[in-house]
Amino acid sequence: MASARVISQALEEVRARIADDRVEIVVATKYVPIEDLATLHEAGVTLIGENRAQDLQAKHAEHGERFTFDFIGHLQSRKVRQIVPLVGRIHSLASDSAADQLARHGRPDLEVLLEVNVAGEDGKSGLAPGQLDALLDRLHAGGGCTPVGLMTMPPQARDPEHSRRWFAALRELAAARDLRHLSMGTSQDFEVAVQEGATIVRIGSRILSPRG
Ligand SMILES: *Cc1c(COP(=O)(O)O)cnc(C)c1O
Repeated sequence: MASARVISQALEEVRARIADDRVEIVVATKYVPIEDLATLHEAGVTLIGENRAQDLQAKHAEHGERFTFDFIGHLQSRKVRQIVPLVGRIHSLASDSAADQLARHGRPDLEVLLEVNVAGEDGKSGLAPGQLDALLDRLHAGGGCTPVGLMTMPPQARDPEHSRRWFAALRELAAARDLRHLSMGTSQDFEVAVQEGATIVRIGSRILSPRG
């Protein structure tokens, strides 16, 4: 990982490219060991995203005061109870079983986004667009969270322009349901995502190990 100075410059550069203060930057820290989190704090990072319950727990135990933690990884229902008290937001709800655990162990103010497999890729996590309404109904009935938006990881693409149609599709799915947050865009395609309405981008490598 880079130094605090380099990371803070990279963060500023990403902010400048986004050019919209309302867009939140979640720094994706799945590859950052606990001992390096102090450097991120020094660099001015305040909001981080973790992918695994175990890592989240360990990092929160050491650095719970320094950062707000979002959960951005695959959400297993048996981990929901462990994750809920540690996070500000969950980006990646995609199953009835996890929704049921949220009804039991959640809290009404917990912000949740539903992950959508917007291109219908085989073997990828996320809901089909046609499953969204049933899961939203289940969440509203359960009362253990507040659904606020949608999240997606579009198909791998070399050219960020190829992601545009998927980001636009996610925006339409959210707009049709009055969901205000769109978590979309990573290191390589965040600018296109913001052009298509992202309110939250999730960025790792571009900030943590910037090249030149
Ligand atoms: C790692 C990760 C990111 C960030 O990816 P980069 O290419 O490093 O910017 C974003 N979202 C999720 C769900 C991730 O796991």
